[in-house]
Amino acid sequence: MKVGIGRERIEGERRVAATPETVQQLRGLGVEVLMEAGAGIAAGFSDRSYADAGATVVPQLALDELDVYCHVRPLTPELAARLHSGLVTVGLAAPANELPTVTALAAAGVTAFALELVPRISRAQSMDALTSQALVAGYRVVLEAAIRFPRFFPMYMTAAGTIPPARVLVLGAGVAGLQAIATAKRLGARVSAYDVRPASATEVTSMGGTFVTLDLDAVEGAGGYARELSEDRAVRQRELLAPHVAAADVLITTAAIPGRPAPLLVTHDMVTGMRPGSVIVDLAAETGGNVEGVVAGVDTLVPVASGDGSVTLVGMKDAASTMPADASRLYAKNVANLLALMTSEGTVAPDFTDEVIAGACLTHSGEVTHEPTKAALA
Ligand code: NAD
Repeated sequence: MKVGIGRERIEGERRVAATPETVQQLRGLGVEVLMEAGAGIAAGFSDRSYADAGATVVPQLALDELDVYCHVRPLTPELAARLHSGLVTVGLAAPANELPTVTALAAAGVTAFALELVPRISRAQSMDALTSQALVAGYRVVLEAAIRFPRFFPMYMTAAGTIPPARVLVLGAGVAGLQAIATAKRLGARVSAYDVRPASATEVTSMGGTFVTLDLDAVEGAGGYARELSEDRAVRQRELLAPHVAAADVLITTAAIPGRPAPLLVTHDMVTGMRPGSVIVDLAAETGGNVEGVVAGVDTLVPVASGDGSVTLVGMKDAASTMPADASRLYAKNVANLLALMTSEGTVAPDFTDEVIAGACLTHSGEVTHEPTKAALA
């Protein structure tokens, strides 16, 4: 069986779907691994390191000779249409946003596995790319804030005076938010955090943050995820958050609802109500943003209400890709572990009675198998 890993074609994407370590893991399953030359360069993995691990490095992948194709970013509809029937693909597929690709994959007869669809159960944790990449993003987002913040994060007591610690507020305490809390704590900041799911309070505390409780009913939907708030409750949430935002020096926002645009948590007025020099980094910028006016990939200086300076509003983009070596290490393990689950004696043979395999499957035998995506296409 031939497993191919190509160069990522999307600009700004530096991750790769296999590392020398996972090449060895895949070779151990009895499969042949073909790496497109240069696929790992941006993540720091040379062609030589892949060859030493047992891969065959080829100038270009012959897609029709592959049994499995592994990728990071969702495929384009054009590439999906060129794939052959029976091919298995494994990678991020963003089904809610990439419907033309899903249609093309189904029409081509590809069995596509979307890592976003891996069920979030204990047994599947080693295949959960949302978690592994959110961990990277949550770490990085704090570093981005720290380098733009004109002050220290930690407290310093020196002969020349005492510097108070930065006050960091994290909104959204899922995987990325919790990593952001941990990273800001490690840098010495005083950290508080809020999430609409009350269950996150103990997790925030265990990371060293103070949980912010608002007088707002809890909203927890299926699978431990948050649900979208009604508009009047969203307005109330913003009102209740306003004083906490105004008191923060650094605001990190990570709130998300699966398959929906990011909830708006911070209005323009809340931004202008912060102190000059404050920094906001919005990790949700690419899915609509938690902060009004944010632009993905752009730093915006927002004048404060007093006119005395501005707040730096950062629209985070490609967060995981900014740390391609470790992001790829984790991502490639997720890919290899999912492949291992469906490979037997060197052949890929997905067992669709397995809830992880069935749950992660997006298209199979000419059909869209993921019901919400099928409904979106109807
Ligand atoms: P996510 O990226 O979908 O969302 C980030 C956070 O935003 C969530 O904590 C969510 O509650 C929060 N949020 C949404 N709307 C909000 C609002 N209006 N105000 C404030 N916060 C808001 O979340 P995630 O990191 O993927 O985690 C979601 C859940 O899945 C969590 O309960 C997490 O513990 C769980 N999880 C389970 C596993 C597993 O068991 N394998 C793995 C990862 C995550």
